[in-house]
Amino acid sequence: MREYKVVVLGSGGVGKSALTVQFVTGSFIEKYDPTIEDFYRKEIEQFASMRDLYIKNGQGFILVYSLVNQQSFQDIKPMRDQIIRVKRYEKVPMILVGNKVDLEGEREVSCGEGKALADDWNCPFLETSAKNKGSVDELFAEIVRQMNYASQPNGDDQCCSSCVIL
Ligand code: GDP
Repeated sequence: MREYKVVVLGSGGVGKSALTVQFVTGSFIEKYDPTIEDFYRKEIEQFASMRDLYIKNGQGFILVYSLVNQQSFQDIKPMRDQIIRVKRYEKVPMILVGNKVDLEGEREVSCGEGKALADDWNCPFLETSAKNKGSVDELFAEIVRQMNYASQPNGDDQCCSSCVIL
């Protein structure tokens, strides 16, 4: 069986764990303790290059923001820059995700804004809900599809495969 290394990036509370757990176990985690998240983040910051390491080892990237939080949409942009910088390659398998689409009434980021950013990055875009499983399977299917494409021997990604091995 082939193993796919997918890295899920995004600021705290956007639903990275919830999306992953929903995909893997089919259930939704309701509980959230921002104190723990904050503590965890501080711990991580001790290792300045921790995210660089994840990125080096990752083959596909899911960049998540919460569509009820404009700040999380702003936060995602430098993360994509970091991926490109670490991989030293523009065509890294990647997908942009606006999560929490079930909270339509509280939306702060329009679907058009998400789509425009994805067009700019030349990558697919999806709005998901880890809560009601909306587009979660499609999200993981799409990132796997991109990774399969990128690893084809005749694909135009020769540089990418060597960067992954770094
Ligand atoms: P992470 O810090 O990015 O891993 O975020 P979590 O997965 O811990 O989710 C943060 C909070 O948002 C939790 O309370 C989740 O239950 C909630 N959450 C995550 N995804 C969704 C979603 O799609 N819809 C709603 N309504 N809440 C969500």
